[in-house]
Amino acid sequence: MINFQYLRTTTVKSAIALLVKDKNAKFLAGGTNLIDLMKRGVTAPEKLIDINHVPLKEIKQVGNKIYIGALTSNTAVADHALVKEKLPLLSWALQAGASAQLRNVATVGGNMMQRTRCGYFYDTEMPCNKRQPGTGCGAMEGFNRMHAIFGTSDQCIAVHPSDMCIALVALDAEVILANAKGERKIPFKEFHRLAGDTPQLDNNLKADEMITGLEIPINNLAKNYHYLKVRDRASYAFALVSVAAAFETVDNKIIDVRLAMGGVAHKPWRLTASELFLKGKEASLTNFEQAAQLAMKDAKGFGGNDFKLKLAPNTIIEALNLAKSKA
Ligand code: SF4
Repeated sequence: MINFQYLRTTTVKSAIALLVKDKNAKFLAGGTNLIDLMKRGVTAPEKLIDINHVPLKEIKQVGNKIYIGALTSNTAVADHALVKEKLPLLSWALQAGASAQLRNVATVGGNMMQRTRCGYFYDTEMPCNKRQPGTGCGAMEGFNRMHAIFGTSDQCIAVHPSDMCIALVALDAEVILANAKGERKIPFKEFHRLAGDTPQLDNNLKADEMITGLEIPINNLAKNYHYLKVRDRASYAFALVSVAAAFETVDNKIIDVRLAMGGVAHKPWRLTASELFLKGKEASLTNFEQAAQLAMKDAKGFGGNDFKLKLAPNTIIEALNLAKSKA
């Protein structure tokens, strides 16, 4: 690890002021991914700005939305009564992530900012366009069992690693971003990016911005929901494929439905075509199967991850069935 300067701050304003002073500064919250990246030489910030004492740990209802501060721990969100009652899909997704110890320190903002777990990205001896643009992609013709089947580019086929973010994109969350002049809000689905020609960028956060919180509309999706994560072992493993599924029915007709997948793309992958298909239809196995087939329209495997072409639709169907059986 190289030397770095450690700074601590207690307000959003001073955190942003410190950030913009030095383009090689990074915020430190839970540190569960950043410190690993520093230890392995993948990233080397000259300044770490510890924001753990900035008061952004509130969870509250504001009108018809739930506000969650960016520095709230994953455990605090998953266990909060308001989240469990109004947004149980989010609580479930959070509990599927990492381990209890990691969830206790990992924050909402940090979860959004975590980087891919592609092995080539973490191995500084290997080519990786995300770590070092222009060096190539080790995974493309290498070990790509965990990699993307949707929205890939010829420069990077990595997947976004979060579980929480899959639920948030399904729930139409908004991200609150602050800079020195004020704040802006963007839809959660626009926060993360596809790799395209800029695989080094994971998201659309600007260099002078800080994530301060989330707003999630309260919905009627707290009855029929499920977060299904398929992984190599029962806990502390990243998703091979995961599905966030939730719907609302009236007389067994679906009137609102949300579907998103993890472990399959460079960003949380919303299944818009499948949602459109299911709206107004009966919540039946036949319709779930057709929705799953629609979701797979543009899927492409890279050899090692070809099994996901079958696993993904099966996971969608099972998640919808489990959501239905909760009624
Ligand atoms: Fe790097 Fe992306 Fe290729 Fe992995 S998939 S080696 S992160 S460029």
